[in-house]
Amino acid sequence: MIVVETVENLRALLNEKRSEGNKIGFVPTMGYLHEGHLSLIDKARNQTDVVVLSIFVNPLQFGPNEDFDRYPRNFDQDKILAENAGVDILFYPSVKEMYPAKMAMKVIVTEGADVLCGKSRPSHFDGVATVVLKLFQMVSPHTVYFGMKDAQQVAIIEKLIRDFNLSIDLVRCPTLREEDGLAKSSRNVNLSKEEREEAPAIYKSLQQAVSFIDEGEKNPTKIKNTVVDYLKQHTTGHIDYVEILSYPDLQPINQIELEVIIAIALQYTKARLIDNVVINL
Ligand code: AMP
Repeated sequence: MIVVETVENLRALLNEKRSEGNKIGFVPTMGYLHEGHLSLIDKARNQTDVVVLSIFVNPLQFGPNEDFDRYPRNFDQDKILAENAGVDILFYPSVKEMYPAKMAMKVIVTEGADVLCGKSRPSHFDGVATVVLKLFQMVSPHTVYFGMKDAQQVAIIEKLIRDFNLSIDLVRCPTLREEDGLAKSSRNVNLSKEEREEAPAIYKSLQQAVSFIDEGEKNPTKIKNTVVDYLKQHTTGHIDYVEILSYPDLQPINQIELEVIIAIALQYTKARLIDNVVINL
């Protein structure tokens, strides 16, 4: 595995790989790698010839009172995990390398960013879309791998690819979970012991919602209320949102039909956790 810190070196290396006819797979992350990230790398390893992993905690997508400084980081450990997972090129740029000059423009997401996480994190997805577009330009991948844990991000990046005619395939990857159902996340280390113990209730509430739908319930408000009640009874976290929307368009719905997302964000003392299920009827 080669660690590259500059855009120039990354381009030179990848131009060489591309000219040899290799297919480039790309997994963008913010590091503090866990099995969720590794499952994306694994998929890229199986489907492409050269796997590029980026680790960059992007200041542009964090609000002023969010956890940019507290976001967990451990590059030495990440390097070992990435190498063992079969990453070929680890791109690890500094903030200065990614943003050498004050940006004169950014990508503004005009659809799908005013709901779910976008509602409570204004301009978060502008920051995500901007950095992802920059990374795509730097890597020029054939295929990119994104986790459905961040389903809203997947929906938005798919539209970024469509709207800017990027010649990139996006692979949606399923959410990896702990044994008790909690979605794996770098932020889980910022939970207290008590919070960690009760956090599996998030996924349990989603599973309960799925059972209601399986039993024939079609009313999104009823389903949402049962999820909210369950969370209130079983967690101490503050409910940021529980929403049921169409997927991937993220529009309000009156009836459960076609493809829908049930999504939750729960704010704990030092970590905001998100989870979701996407159901295709
Ligand atoms: P992050 O480092 O949190 O920005 O995540 C980088 C990529 O890994 C994103 O595409 C995430 O959706 C994905 N990811 C994060 N957690 C999981 C998980 N538990 N299962 C699968 N993919 C994940």
